Amino acid sequence: MKRVLVTEPMHDTGFALLRARDDIDAVFAEDMTPETLARLIPGVHGIAVRGAFLTAELLTLASDLQVVSRHGVGCDRIDVGHLTSRGIPMAIAAGANAQSVAEHTMALALSVARHQPALDDAVRDCDFDARNRLLATDLSGATMLIIGFGRIGRKVAPLARAFGMDVTVVDIKLDRELAAQMGCRAVEDFRPELTSADFVSLHVPLDDSTRHMLSKSEFEMMKTGSILINCARGGIVDEVAMMAALDAGQLRGAGLDVLSTEPPPPDDPMLTSLLARSDVILAPHAGASSFGAKIEMSRMAIQNLLDAFDGKLDPDCVFNLEGLNAP
Ligand code: NAD
Repeated sequence: MKRVLVTEPMHDTGFALLRARDDIDAVFAEDMTPETLARLIPGVHGIAVRGAFLTAELLTLASDLQVVSRHGVGCDRIDVGHLTSRGIPMAIAAGANAQSVAEHTMALALSVARHQPALDDAVRDCDFDARNRLLATDLSGATMLIIGFGRIGRKVAPLARAFGMDVTVVDIKLDRELAAQMGCRAVEDFRPELTSADFVSLHVPLDDSTRHMLSKSEFEMMKTGSILINCARGGIVDEVAMMAALDAGQLRGAGLDVLSTEPPPPDDPMLTSLLARSDVILAPHAGASSFGAKIEMSRMAIQNLLDAFDGKLDPDCVFNLEGLNAP
């Protein structure tokens, strides 16, 4: 019998997979506080997790742990180094939400470019003259720089191309052939591209190599009037530097699905500054919030747990594969 802890609610598709197995004893956390998790973790063989923080301190309590499986792909709230040191796979729902996040990225790009919320406000205020003030930036003919050409970046690229955009992609593991097939220019370093990109869209994980990847010097390099879209993680952007770039007009606007602190406290000064701006459009980390993505993430989160127990976890779904295979 394998004991599984599910830290948060998810779509029933995943739970149905658990119910179908008579060799699984599932426990469901009533909340994701460290105290609750510390009480439930001892004795578990697998953990299915959405947004809960899993620190080394908590994970150490699970001496029989065989796998941690994410309902999503970002692992920045989990001490993956601890898992790797114990030879435990960190499973992710690879690709399950890629299309949803890509569509959300384009929705934010269009909303900022076309002042969508302000136009809606204008109609509610009977201000039809707004159409003469709130002129849109055309996507067609504009350049989009996609930083991170992984599962999500590769879904954004064809959508941007379909809008007639010139697309440049950057990645530390660049697939130049795929980029060329998609009609994209591929480059090693994103910084020189900042001077000419009209839109910059982030699709890298948050780790030591990407934290504050866009900071003061990068914002100063950006083309005047460019638009930033962040559907990756808040910590990739230095928000203070972003605010200065918005004030200076270097950035013409930003579409942010993610913030460095989520949710921010209501009196958070950065949140207050962001809410005061009409050139910033915010979303509550909703990139993966489509019907299709929720179903697929719950299915993969549980299937990956079961596959790990059965010794057939797909290597594509193992976030720490390199570390586990290291000599
Ligand atoms: P992925 O692993 O398929 O792609 C990430 C890409 O970034 C990889 O190709 C990797 O080589 C590249 N990369 C890593 N470090 C880099 C660096 N320093 N410079 C350049 N490239 C670098 O992951 P994905 O599924 O495309 O997801 C990307 C990120 O999007 C996730 O890590 C997560 O943080 C975020 N995300 C957000 C939401 C949301 O709801 N907003 C949902 C899913 C994922």
